[in-house]
Amino acid sequence: MFETLKPQPADKILSLMAAYREDPRADKIDLGVGVYKNPEGVTPVMRAVKAAEQQLWQEQTTKAYTGLAGDPAYADALISLIFAGSVERDHIAAVATPGGTGAVRQAFELIKLANPSVRVFVSDPTWPNHISMLKHVGLEMVPYRYFDEETCGVDVEGMLADLKGARKGDVVLLHGCCHNPTGANPNSADWKAIVAILQETGATPMIDLAYQGFGDGLEDDAAATRLIASSVPECLIAASCSKNFGVYRERAGLLMAVSQEAGQVAVTQGTLAHLNRQNFSFPPDHGARLVTMILTDDALRADWKAELEEMRSGMLKLREQLATELRRLTGSDRYAFIAQHRGMFSRLGLPPEIVERLRADHAIYMVGDSRLNIAGLNANTVPILANAIAETAG
Ligand code: PMP
Repeated sequence: MFETLKPQPADKILSLMAAYREDPRADKIDLGVGVYKNPEGVTPVMRAVKAAEQQLWQEQTTKAYTGLAGDPAYADALISLIFAGSVERDHIAAVATPGGTGAVRQAFELIKLANPSVRVFVSDPTWPNHISMLKHVGLEMVPYRYFDEETCGVDVEGMLADLKGARKGDVVLLHGCCHNPTGANPNSADWKAIVAILQETGATPMIDLAYQGFGDGLEDDAAATRLIASSVPECLIAASCSKNFGVYRERAGLLMAVSQEAGQVAVTQGTLAHLNRQNFSFPPDHGARLVTMILTDDALRADWKAELEEMRSGMLKLREQLATELRRLTGSDRYAFIAQHRGMFSRLGLPPEIVERLRADHAIYMVGDSRLNIAGLNANTVPILANAIAETAG
């Protein structure tokens, strides 16, 4: 039967990673793959994660199954990090999932179960996995305008106009902070306007929160999520701990469903647990447990926050350095947006030919849509990149 299978389209980022590995040039720079790297090019195990792992190794007495929803202490700890009391705990159904991807996937399944004829509004562009999973699950998709190619900021007018086309029973998928792939984000006035449209249309928001702490800080990065969840009757939040705890391969995610109607929560919780059971049964525990230990221990939490803050401010400094270099080299402000963007990514708005020339002539690897990973840079490689962009794109 396997002969009926057709080759799947190649994942662009994975193909780029392979091309980078095979490139013999010693001065090659990888700005493709979406993992945080320190100035030495290493994706470190965070100090608090190491300490928690050591403690866990000494103290853990069983690896028997947890619950279908994962350890409730994990949900409690992350809910308090994300919502900080802005939504009451008993209004939130939550299940642990294999990473943020698992949370997004389970959310799509829940949506399909609740309303098979749903339309899911997605930003143009969005994380490519959103689109491929929506297709895979069989949900209708409606793109909304998001990125202004001229300014490399958010096309707020276009976005709001398109979101007005949503109606009750539809879902609007939003990036809570640090939009991937563009790095462009709504400001707080824009978020208020988005909330007003959600209230007007009755569409259900779904927030993908994969980078809390990578943009403007843990609190600011959760502000849009808190505002939305406390302003609409119901919403979904898919959170990932991969980036902010650096536990990528441990697969720690959490799917939350908020209902202002507290009586709804038990059935939603049961449905989420059921969906976990159908797909993988018990969610992974190791990463989730480390996250719980860190968030509930004052010393570990303080150390984690300090290291996360170092990572965040390091990325911001690189943004500023790159924008300044490009201003100097081009004599224009056309790249000033790089310092305004937040998170790990920026879409530079360069055509594919330029992206290809950067790779061919300068061994600089970024995704074909001109998304670069800021964390792939360091203070020494920023001027190299700036020179290459100025020379190739002007
Ligand atoms: N959503 C977005 C927008 C992302 O960029 C990512 C990470 N690439 C995820 C979700 C999920 O990441 P993970 O499954 O590794 O936790």
